[in-house]
Amino acid sequence: MKNIIVIGGGPAGMIASGFASKNKENNVVLLEKNNKLGRKLFITGKGRCNVTNACGSEELIQNTPGNPYFLYSAFYTFDSYATMNFFNELGVELKVERGNRVFPISEKSSDIVKALSIFIYKNNVDVKLNHKVTDIIFEGKNIKKVIVNNSKEFFADEVIIATGGLTYPVTGSDGDGYRFSKNMGHKVTKLYPALVPLKIKEKYYKDIQGLSLKNIELRIYIDKKNIYKGFGEMMFTHFGITGPLVLKASRSIVDKYNKNISAFIDLKPALNQKQLDDRVLKDFKKFINRSFKNSLYELLPQKIIPVIINISKINPDKKVNCITKEERKNLCHIIKNLPLTIVGNNGYNEAVITAGGICVDEIDSSTMRSKIINNLLFAGEVIDVDSYTGGFNLQIAFSTGYLAGNSV
Ligand code: FAD
Repeated sequence: MKNIIVIGGGPAGMIASGFASKNKENNVVLLEKNNKLGRKLFITGKGRCNVTNACGSEELIQNTPGNPYFLYSAFYTFDSYATMNFFNELGVELKVERGNRVFPISEKSSDIVKALSIFIYKNNVDVKLNHKVTDIIFEGKNIKKVIVNNSKEFFADEVIIATGGLTYPVTGSDGDGYRFSKNMGHKVTKLYPALVPLKIKEKYYKDIQGLSLKNIELRIYIDKKNIYKGFGEMMFTHFGITGPLVLKASRSIVDKYNKNISAFIDLKPALNQKQLDDRVLKDFKKFINRSFKNSLYELLPQKIIPVIINISKINPDKKVNCITKEERKNLCHIIKNLPLTIVGNNGYNEAVITAGGICVDEIDSSTMRSKIINNLLFAGEVIDVDSYTGGFNLQIAFSTGYLAGNSV
């Protein structure tokens, strides 16, 4: 019987500790600094918990911009169907929504936290809440003990670090795992807030905060080079832009905020320039005696019309029948290329995920075992891996947690 210590009671640590117990053959202690398990898990998917994505492992890899191939073994060993079976067996009924996103039918993230808690208690994991690990003592290539609350000592044959990243630090994940690992000789790659709302320069967008745009295309350019193009949904806020499309786009610029980042929204991606011009012309004919400002409401959301008019520099009171072909052409160009300048992001307090982490070159991808310290393993967001939204990040926690737990 081995003594296993798992640090961090998030999804990665919970699943790792349950499997590490190996049907109660090992003595597993789960140390969590909060007074409850799975605080971040509780707020996932706006409280509904997008627990995984119902897709094959290749697709999991395609949706993982941060070191996808390191996760090959983890995704193939414990894939999203394994995750779904795991929760089904624990009595959680699941449903699949748009984009293959999987949620509990109850739409309560608490059911996922509860199921994981049942799993670890069934496996006799000794859960110690209010236990903040403050240090890990090692000698040469072996961890000797783990120090809790600066005083209590826990001896371990194997240690799994599952302390998460840096985002939403109020939930408990504030970077301790990086510090411990660095101290033991591990490299931690540069950390960035990712899947994060973006700040924009143009003040006039403040007037349209709350406006949600569906079925639009967002393109991002750095120094005029296109680096992102996506289709979907976004929203204007008091500071800038957010929504699924923006969060995904933010991943492609995590380390580029010191450059000139421009973005363009295509409000009518289904129409080419000529088709859009025909459509505008049709509306102009229909509203021939109206002023320009009153002629666009069938084409565009009401709230955005003043912004478009402002950028077009066409007099809003100009009669539609007086608008020139050149002005119309420019209008169509703006509708397909609404410009924004990205000047920053909302930081770790509002980011979904941390990009960067424990360098994957120093972890065995088939076991999650450290290549530097003999009795150390990693699981979850603390590793330098990250995916897009859609349930992929929790799948990383489950896949790597399963591997780490089974490897001790
Ligand atoms: P965490 O969940 O961060 O858990 C780490 C745990 O370690 C914490 O409980 C922390 O208290 C504990 N800990 C840290 N340091 C110490 C220490 N020194 N001693 C003891 N304990 C310690 N992903 C999805 O796939 N689907 C979603 O719907 C989704 N929604 C999200 C919504 C929000 C608002 C956020 C912020 C993230 C969301 N994510 C989602 C991402 C997902 O929550 C993370 O990928 C996942 O929680 C990472 O799991 P983890 O176990 O590695 O880390």
